Amino acid sequence: MNTPSEFSAERQAWGTNRPYPVAQRWYERLDLENGVTRFWEPHVHPLEQANFWHIRGSERDLLIDSGMGIVPLRPSFPDLFGDKEVIALATHTHIDHIGAIHEFEHRWVHAAEARQMAHPSGVVTLVCADIHPQLSKLFVEAGYPPFDELLIDAMPYEGYDPRQYRLRGAVPTHLVHDKDTIDLGDRRFEIIQLPGHSPGSICIWEEATGTLYSGDLIYDGPLVYEGPGMDLEVYAQSLRRLKAMPIQVVHAGHDPSFGRARLIEIIDTYLRRWGMGD
Ligand SMILES: [Zn+2]
Ligand SMILES: [Zn+2]
Repeated sequence: MNTPSEFSAERQAWGTNRPYPVAQRWYERLDLENGVTRFWEPHVHPLEQANFWHIRGSERDLLIDSGMGIVPLRPSFPDLFGDKEVIALATHTHIDHIGAIHEFEHRWVHAAEARQMAHPSGVVTLVCADIHPQLSKLFVEAGYPPFDELLIDAMPYEGYDPRQYRLRGAVPTHLVHDKDTIDLGDRRFEIIQLPGHSPGSICIWEEATGTLYSGDLIYDGPLVYEGPGMDLEVYAQSLRRLKAMPIQVVHAGHDPSFGRARLIEIIDTYLRRWGMGD
């Protein structure tokens, strides 16, 4: 069985092919069963290539995270983003999770990251030279391929200037807290605050289906646990809390979804690595 760091081997294939080609389409989309759609941006560097999720409800829809905001999201999927109310919820406020949240009327985030969502700092650019070398080093040590010139390997359209990109913040319209519920009409979700990757990291739990939307707390790839706003002790506590929950499926902030056995395996791998195993 692969450990999360071995998973990174295929990531080493990342490289930019200048001159940058124009991508045929920017977003990839996978419609899963039960009204769930997964999105991702294949031309973004693996470190920042996040999954985000659209979930249909009878009264309103839920969007969990929103990618980098390189290309407007709403107009790209008119069948999903029509007149119906949609709650755009951020699992946390890193660049790859809040890029398009400004397009939405209802913008929810945990209170601990409200300020960061309104005024993003840290990695807010596509130009790798603008990223602090210390941070770049951390990412490579975690198992990601080194940065080249840009965080993208194709242009979204002819004439796009990646130097003009800036992560656009948005003032949240509602602040969430641990144990809050989200009611879509025919389905309900619970917010679980699980910090460590960032102070206001949340997971979204659908008890009826045993499904956890985990953001960057856990995914089947190299976890990032050392850096600004990150706390290893707190991270370990959050992972232990996950282990105790009856989770069957994890739809994560990065990489493919996985089931309970893999969840336990990843948690145990990291707790052992940090010297915090049972
Ligand atoms: Zn992420
Ligand atoms: Zn993150």
